[in-house]
Amino acid sequence: MEDQKMTQYNNKVLVIGAGVGGIKAALDLAEAGRDVVLIDKAPAIGGLMAQLDRTFPTNNCDLCTLSPHLAESGRRLHIELLPLTELLALDGKVGDFKVTLKSSPRFIDLNKCTACGECFNAFPGCVRFTPGLDHRAPTCMRYPRATPYAYSIDMSRCPDPDRLAQACREGAIVPRDEEKTREIEVGSVVLAAGAALFDARALDGYGYGVCENVVTGLEYERILSASGPTLGQLARPSDGGQPKKIAWISVPDHEASGSRISPIVRAPAACTL
Ligand code: SF4
Repeated sequence: MEDQKMTQYNNKVLVIGAGVGGIKAALDLAEAGRDVVLIDKAPAIGGLMAQLDRTFPTNNCDLCTLSPHLAESGRRLHIELLPLTELLALDGKVGDFKVTLKSSPRFIDLNKCTACGECFNAFPGCVRFTPGLDHRAPTCMRYPRATPYAYSIDMSRCPDPDRLAQACREGAIVPRDEEKTREIEVGSVVLAAGAALFDARALDGYGYGVCENVVTGLEYERILSASGPTLGQLARPSDGGQPKKIAWISVPDHEASGSRISPIVRAPAACTL
């Protein structure tokens, strides 16, 4: 009887969040014959793990661990991948949900983009895969071999969208791309929202956001990563020079949650929070 009820349920599953947890859930569901819609608000999937270099305890390269899953989720016929997409509304009951999704404009046509990087070269700067360390180029790819393998554009930072569009020989840039909403019906929803980064600017006394050479642990990780903005060279964000000394600051939980104790911190050349 219970089985008969199950067969009436919508086969489609919405997975919210395309970090490593969401990707694995999507792959397992597709393997089990379910149709999956995998959404993430970022321009490429992979989440925080794609930005880490190596992880404890095996010291494995994260991107090497994640890449096969990224590529597989992009190829799987049962998985519809929707980057730059958020959940707007959810109605209904188990087995029969109506979902409204909102997709932000990428300003690049994924079907035409070959990821040649010419638009990036025309507007030089740095890739935006590095939280807080990017030099705000109007085009971005979060990390090498991102999925989908295409750039995206932050048009609000682009001084001349038409000139940027002319830089693309494939005609892939869509300067007047717009936000889109769509409704889908799904039987189940998997929430794999992952973690959010703490904004270290909220901490008094450490100089984050004021001193360029004070960086967070994740930003330091990006600097040391071979796929990072400095290709793994330990360089000061302020001038690209090599720091002579580095101070590590471990912020207590109660401070991170807002009690604002201001300790005396010495920051000789570079710091990491
Ligand atoms: S948008 Fe055009 S120029 Fe930019 S990476 Fe894609 S194909 Fe190359």
